[in-house]
Amino acid sequence: MSYDIKFNKPYFTGKETEYIRDAVASGKISGDGVFTKKCHDFFENKYGFSKVLLTTSCTDALEMAAILIDIQQGDEVIIPSYTFVSTVNAFVLRGAKIIFIDSEKDTPNMDVALLEGLITDKTKAIVPVHYAGMACDMDSIMAIANKYNLFVVEDAAQAIDSFYKGRPLGSIGHLAAFSFHETKNLISGEGGMLVINDKKFMSRAEIIREKGTNRSAFFRGEVNKYGWVDIGSSFLPSDIIGAFLFAQLENIDEIQSKRISIWTKYYNALKVLAEEGAIKIPVIPDYATNNAHMFYVICNSLQDRTDLIEHLKNSGVYAVFHYLSLHSSPYYSSRHDGRELPRTDFYSDCLVRLPMYYELTPEQVKRVCDSIISFYSKEK
Ligand SMILES: *Cc1c(COP(=O)(O)O)cnc(C)c1O
Repeated sequence: MSYDIKFNKPYFTGKETEYIRDAVASGKISGDGVFTKKCHDFFENKYGFSKVLLTTSCTDALEMAAILIDIQQGDEVIIPSYTFVSTVNAFVLRGAKIIFIDSEKDTPNMDVALLEGLITDKTKAIVPVHYAGMACDMDSIMAIANKYNLFVVEDAAQAIDSFYKGRPLGSIGHLAAFSFHETKNLISGEGGMLVINDKKFMSRAEIIREKGTNRSAFFRGEVNKYGWVDIGSSFLPSDIIGAFLFAQLENIDEIQSKRISIWTKYYNALKVLAEEGAIKIPVIPDYATNNAHMFYVICNSLQDRTDLIEHLKNSGVYAVFHYLSLHSSPYYSSRHDGRELPRTDFYSDCLVRLPMYYELTPEQVKRVCDSIISFYSKEK
């Protein structure tokens, strides 16, 4: 079976190869070159982030965050179970115990009402994941974090150009991590970014990213030699990645408005099925914006979802389910404290992601929606 409507198709603006050629011509393609700096400036100017650092992935940015907040063996970190494995792995690598939190009724984001009940004297951090680029309830999360003196690391992998009460996601927690993986809105193949909002982490973040050396300060002329001053790793990308990404950043407004128009077409076409109760469609809380990272629908059961994905496949449409509950994963189930997380399991069983990419045409969106509508009319 071949799919004539793919699930994802990376969008190239056309300038990527030109900028990569410029980077090569400049004679310096290691990290923190001209294009990496252009990307840093772009993000700091556009979103008012106080400091950003490109990384080789969002996974790496999360690993840096776990080092920066000094996670030690046995520290507890509260993370949704409905997320990508890297959100959790970054903290597990430092010896943390993960306290999984269930999702909200209306969205896969963490249910803030459960948060305070999970805090113990070992809790060190909360890691909200802005699923589908839609904000978690950040005021409540920050209030609880402040009350118990905890760090907040936003997993903003999917959340570029999305806002909470007018504030850009990634600017609210102490630290935040973004992804430019080719499945995200803005891409560089693999790539990511750490945002440092709490000033006390700024100089150490540079050191950790440069293999535990103070090389960044040396290149700025702040120290007269550089050496090994802390732990760290090689978290900085080549300037070729920065060149690619910069071409995307120049087109961010066009990319976003196109994706939002596709998202809105899905929403309007599938609303009727949601009103009939056949499926659920995304709910955007009042405090959140939609960056059109993803369009998902939620089926009423696992069987229904399996059949819908099969039906779409037979119409040449590639739709996919998403995360498998991490609390019952082969790696973590024996380490989990045994609490049931019914909403996580529900999203794990019932959520389907529809094709979503810049070049998806209105006709293709209509075909996907017609196929879903025909599936549910057939069922009756
Ligand atoms: C994509 C994603 C990641 C990982 O991003 P990489 O850049 O591939 O490391 C982490 N968390 C979430 C929620 C993601 O969607």
